[in-house]
Amino acid sequence: MFQQAIFNEIAEAGVNDLHFKFDEASGLKAIIAVHNTRRGPALGGCRIIPYSSTDEAITDAIRLAKGMSYKAALAGLDLGGGKSVIIEPSEPYNREKLFKAFGGFIEELGGRYITAMDSGSRVSDMDTIATQTRHVSCTTVSGNPAPSTALGVYKGILATLKAHKDSGHSLKGMRIAVQGVGNVGYALCQLLHHDGAKLIVSDIDEKKVEQCVSDFGATPVSSDEIYSVPCDIFSPCGLGGVLDHNHINQLQCSAVAGSANNQLLTPDCGQQLFDRDILYAPDYLINSGGLIFVAMKYFGNGQVEIDRRIDVIEETLLQVFRHQQQRQAPSSLIADHMAEVLLYGRLSA
Ligand code: NAD
Repeated sequence: MFQQAIFNEIAEAGVNDLHFKFDEASGLKAIIAVHNTRRGPALGGCRIIPYSSTDEAITDAIRLAKGMSYKAALAGLDLGGGKSVIIEPSEPYNREKLFKAFGGFIEELGGRYITAMDSGSRVSDMDTIATQTRHVSCTTVSGNPAPSTALGVYKGILATLKAHKDSGHSLKGMRIAVQGVGNVGYALCQLLHHDGAKLIVSDIDEKKVEQCVSDFGATPVSSDEIYSVPCDIFSPCGLGGVLDHNHINQLQCSAVAGSANNQLLTPDCGQQLFDRDILYAPDYLINSGGLIFVAMKYFGNGQVEIDRRIDVIEETLLQVFRHQQQRQAPSSLIADHMAEVLLYGRLSA
């Protein structure tokens, strides 16, 4: 990438600074993007995948860091957004050595960036990083954020019920279609089942589906059927990018509320959901329970404070839905605008 192109990309995303590290001994090639630190240090996970080019890795770091700033702001955290990416070596490598070098890189930034887990990285990697710096969460000591993410999604589902004109306030008898019953999806099913919801589930892993059938009396459907199954709420908890124009056309639900990151394939999919009168809980708001957990653990807070902050997701979502109604604009745009006001005190261009 030409230098000017990098600066253009940084300027467009509003990224504050971009840091590069090459460590020959371990083979580490890492990039840390610090998007915004006005509200506090930049927190965001470390992604390690075999990027096809350095340009691709830079673009990913910048895009993801910006998303983290928006997420932290709407979650009401005194944090900015950042993200790190490690270009996974194509040759065999020593994982511990690599993450030790990465921990040293984070330490050099003196607390400006705090790392956590993301695609490809593991709890054991966070433990290795913790030998070099204290600016890390998601270690064995801090624990698994998935139950907190699920709790936030559950609160978000309650908010969609309150906001939707045809729905009552109780989950009893509500049909909820959960796509992906992994760490978050399964924990969400537990909460919904406890409240009497009727679950419909799909997963590419048959065993996980069978578990939900046996534990919650869930109705299994195929990975294709889940989009068109009649239900009250569709809850994407598997992969990102599942809400494309074709899938949105198939939906037979009143609301979409799930944990998956980047659910809308393109920004205009938010408008399509709005046009179809399907209430959409913006992904980075409804799934912010995980970030709240990671941040609170980093700052040394306990479960009571974590749960108190997760409760706020419900109120913030209700606010988004009220603005959507007043301004007749998609909730995805409303959430972005609310985050921008918190980040910049105004809307970005
Ligand atoms: P996970 O890997 O434990 O679970 C994902 C599940 O989705 C797996 O069981 C997988 O088999 C299934 N799946 C994949 N493709 C599918 C498909 N096409 N149809 C149906 N199921 C499919 O991951 P997780 O930690 O539960 O996270 C789920 C989603 O929530 C991800 O998008 C993740 O980025 C997001 N998220 C997770 C957290 C967290 O705390 N773990 C926080 C915020 C956001």
